[in-house]
Amino acid sequence: MIYVIADPCHGVCDTACVDVCPVDCIHGPAPLPEIRETREQGGESALKAKYGDKIQLYIDPEECISCGACEPECPVDAIFEDEELPEKWAGSAQLNADFFKKK
Ligand code: SF4
Ligand code: SF4
Repeated sequence: MIYVIADPCHGVCDTACVDVCPVDCIHGPAPLPEIRETREQGGESALKAKYGDKIQLYIDPEECISCGACEPECPVDAIFEDEELPEKWAGSAQLNADFFKKK
C-alpha cells in the first residue's frame, strides 16, 4: 500500500502535501520552489500556462512510507491510498510510478 496523487491536483499544485511529508518523496515536473513561486505570483492560470493544464505533483512509490500525513492536507482531495483510488483515476498509481522512472 502506498499513496498516490490523482487528477484533482491538475493545475492546483499548492504543495501543501509536500510540507508535511516526512521523507520528501513528493515531487513535480519542475523544482518545487519554482512551482511555488509561479503559483504565488500568477495563480493557477500561470501554472497551467507555464507547465500545461495537467501539471501535478507525484508521490515516489519507492520512497513513500505510507504514513498518511499528506492525505488530509490536500485541499482538493487528490491523494488516495492506491487501493482506495476511485475507478476513474485507477491509472494514477502507474502514472506516479512512471514519473520517477523517467528521472
Ligand atoms: S503517505 Fe507519508 S510518506 Fe507517503 S507521500 Fe504522504 S506524507 Fe509522504
Ligand atoms: S496538496 Fe493536493 S493539490 Fe496540493 S500539491 Fe499536494 S496533491 Fe496537489
